[in-house]
Amino acid sequence: MALYVQKYGGSSVADAECMRRVAKRIYDTQRAGNQVVVVVSAMGDTTDDLIALAKQVNPEPNEREMDSLMATGEMASSAVLTMALHALGAKAISMTGHQAGIRVDGTHLKAKIEAINPKRIQKHLDQGQVVVVAGFQGTNPSEDIATLGRGGSDTTAVALAAALKADRCQILKDVDGVFTANPRVVPAARKLDEIAYEEMLELASCGAEVLQSRAVEFAKNYGVVLEVLSSFVVKPGTLVREEDEKMEQMIIRGIAADKNQAKATLLGVPDTPGVAARIFKALAAANLNVDMIVQNVSAAGVTDVSFTVAKDDIAKTKRVIEPLVKSVQAAGLNFDGDIAKVSLVGVGMKSHSGVAYRMFDVLAKHKINIEMISTSEIKISVAIRAQDADQAVRSLHQAFGMGAKAKKKAPAKKKAAQKKK
Ligand code: ASP
Ligand code: MG
Repeated sequence: MALYVQKYGGSSVADAECMRRVAKRIYDTQRAGNQVVVVVSAMGDTTDDLIALAKQVNPEPNEREMDSLMATGEMASSAVLTMALHALGAKAISMTGHQAGIRVDGTHLKAKIEAINPKRIQKHLDQGQVVVVAGFQGTNPSEDIATLGRGGSDTTAVALAAALKADRCQILKDVDGVFTANPRVVPAARKLDEIAYEEMLELASCGAEVLQSRAVEFAKNYGVVLEVLSSFVVKPGTLVREEDEKMEQMIIRGIAADKNQAKATLLGVPDTPGVAARIFKALAAANLNVDMIVQNVSAAGVTDVSFTVAKDDIAKTKRVIEPLVKSVQAAGLNFDGDIAKVSLVGVGMKSHSGVAYRMFDVLAKHKINIEMISTSEIKISVAIRAQDADQAVRSLHQAFGMGAKAKKKAPAKKKAAQKKK
C-alpha cells in the first residue's frame, strides 16, 4: 500500500463541479489500494478576493488579522471537498493546519514550517480515511494562525509528504506539468518530463508560477520526489528530482518572466565603505527579499544603488529606506514598477559557455535594453522594461531551440544560418 500526498490548487477546486471531479480522482486513488492525504488551496480566486476585501476596509491591514482572514479560504475548501468525498461514499475528514499538527515560526504572511506532528493524520489514515488538510497555514508559537506566503499550499503538501514519509507527492494543477516557458506567452512551449530541484528552484523564484519556491527547497532538502501533473486529465506530468548527468545535456531547461518586481534606486549615495551594508542590513531586518543589485560607477564620490524587491513590498521598502536617505546623505529614493525580470535557467550552463552572450545578443537584436543583470551557476537574469518581457521570452525560447524536438529544429536552423550569410 502506497501513501500519496496530493495537492490540488485553487483552480482545480474552483466550484462545486470541480470539487466533485477532484473528489472522484481522490477516491479512485484510494480505491486503487493507496492511503491518501490531500492538501487543498482556497477555491478559485478566494485568496485574492479576501485580500481585496481587507484592503477596502484598511489599506494596510494588520498582518496577524490578514493571516486569520486568508486561512479561512483553505479551511472552507477542505471542508467542502470532504463533503464531496462523503457524497461518493468515501471515508474522509478535513483538518485545519493546526489540527494537522503543523507548527510554524512567528513571521506573519511568510511563515516557515518548523515542525509537523503527523500523529492525528496517521491515526485517521490507519482508520481508512482520506485526510483533507487546509493548505498554506499553521500555528505559530503564540498559538496564532500564520500563513506560508502566496502559493504556500505546495509547501504544506511537501512538508506533509516528508513528515509522513509518503511515497509520492503529487501537485495537481490546471496545467499538464512544468513547461519550458509559460504556454500562454509562448505557444511553442513544451512540457518537460523531468527537471532538477535546482532548476525548479531558480525558475520558481524567477516568476514561474508552477510551484512555490519554498516547497521545492523543502522537497530538495528532504529528498521528496515531486510530480507536477494535470488535475483534469490522468496522464504523467513532470518529475522534479535530484539532477543527474543526462540533465546537463540540455543547456536551458526553462525561461521565466517575473513582472512582480520593482526597482528601487537610492540616488547620489556617498561612495564610502559601510553605506551598502547599512542599506541592506535595514532591508534584511525588515524581512524584505532583495533580488538584483546594481551599484553604478561613482562620479564625484557619489553613486546610485539600485535593487529589486517584490512589487507588493514597495510600501514597506519605502518605510524602511526613507529614514536612511537622510542618515546616509543620499540625494533621494525612487521606485520603478515597470520592470520585468527575465531569466534563463539550466544545469547545463555549468558545462556550456557563451549562454550570456547568446542571451544578450538575442535581446540586442530585438532592441531590448538590459537594465540590470544577475547570474548564478545555473541562471542568468536580466531586468528589462515590463512591456518587452513577452517578446523577450518568445525570442529567447526560439533562439535556444527550446520548443521543437532536435530533429524538427534542424532545417529551420539551417535556413536562419543561410539568411545570415
Ligand atoms: N490560497 C493561497 C494563494 O492563493 C495559497 C495557495 O494557493 O497555495 O496564494
Ligand atoms: Mg490560490
